[in-house]
Amino acid sequence: MHIRKIRLLTPGPTPLYPPALHAMMGADIHHRTQEFVRVYKAIIADLKEVLGTSYDVIPLACSGTGAMEAAVSNFFRRGDRVIVCSAGKFGERWVQIAQAFGLEPIVLEAEYGEPVPAEAVIEKLSSTPGVRGVFIQACETSTGVEHDVETIGKAVAQTEAIFVVDAITGFGTMPLDIEGWGLDIVVGGSQKAFMIPPGLAFLTVSPKAWKHEESSDLPHYYFSIRKEAKNALEGQSNWTPSVALLLALHAALQYLKQVGMAKLIENARLLAQATREAVQALGLEVFARKSPSAAVTAVKAPAGMDSGVIVKGFRDRFGSIIANGQGSMKGKIFRIAHLGYFDFPDLFAVIAELELLLAEQGLPVEFGRGVAAAQHVYAKAALQKAAVAH
Ligand SMILES: *Cc1c(COP(=O)(O)O)cnc(C)c1O
Repeated sequence: MHIRKIRLLTPGPTPLYPPALHAMMGADIHHRTQEFVRVYKAIIADLKEVLGTSYDVIPLACSGTGAMEAAVSNFFRRGDRVIVCSAGKFGERWVQIAQAFGLEPIVLEAEYGEPVPAEAVIEKLSSTPGVRGVFIQACETSTGVEHDVETIGKAVAQTEAIFVVDAITGFGTMPLDIEGWGLDIVVGGSQKAFMIPPGLAFLTVSPKAWKHEESSDLPHYYFSIRKEAKNALEGQSNWTPSVALLLALHAALQYLKQVGMAKLIENARLLAQATREAVQALGLEVFARKSPSAAVTAVKAPAGMDSGVIVKGFRDRFGSIIANGQGSMKGKIFRIAHLGYFDFPDLFAVIAELELLLAEQGLPVEFGRGVAAAQHVYAKAALQKAAVAH
């Protein structure tokens, strides 16, 4: 049709919270002023509240990968033996960063679409002496798979190793008890469930991780986490911070506090369930069979069809930007996100669009079948009477 609204529906960047965007226009403040100190301290306090931890939280001006790199370069030593759980492209990124800094990663690899089983990590930990760290993705965004961070964290807590969790799409989509589960370093990014543009990341640091930091011998300069933590106490960052994004984060955090993390997570989990039921009602298959994530649902393209056709159809016909598969999964899956500032009307539209696109490709589609499946999930969760009626 003739009017097409652009809608960002990828698992990062995600839809933006409008008051956060407006807050960015207040960025004409200098970062070495009391005005900035106040807001920076408030952001760190709010982050701790939303993440449910009293550990240090260090914001960084970089994308999520920068904070992943900082988690390696500040807390490990050359030659450290570490276990990396790799279930997709982001797990492979941990391996590459570890190798770039001279660590010796032992890689526990899961097939794309599968999680690394907690038992495999526990077994490897007990059969390997001297492990200094365990790395994982809470949610592996490239395949739409969630890991059992709780079981693994509690096992790592019994050892000398620190547990380093990329929760960039885990935050806001799954419960993460940082202190209760032994999550020593947890990495987050702005453009996922935090509802603001890319360019900010942060990490949390446990006392056990700070002990590791004391003996770290790896080179770093921009990402000097000890110095950041010290400056943060004074409401300052090491370098010129991303003032505009921090103001956006400040606004988004007020909203997240108002909604509450538990409800944000429930929102994502219901949308994920509705997405799975909708695509299955349309005869499609969810890529992650065992442990599908609440951040993003990866869907297999119909037999004989390149998923790029669907991704392109979403964009060209409807202005909806959804994600293709990454790496070798490109062309095989498409990914529908539902983390952060997503609601059921977003999902109803996506599923209705998908039905039209499948029909355009000549597949036998009964219009409304997928949408109805999503509506049933909504009704059961939110409408008492409708739940009884169905
Ligand atoms: C988005 C994402 C990242 C970070 O990617 P950047 O492009 O550096 O922000 C890292 N890990 C996961 C699981 C992600 O989803």
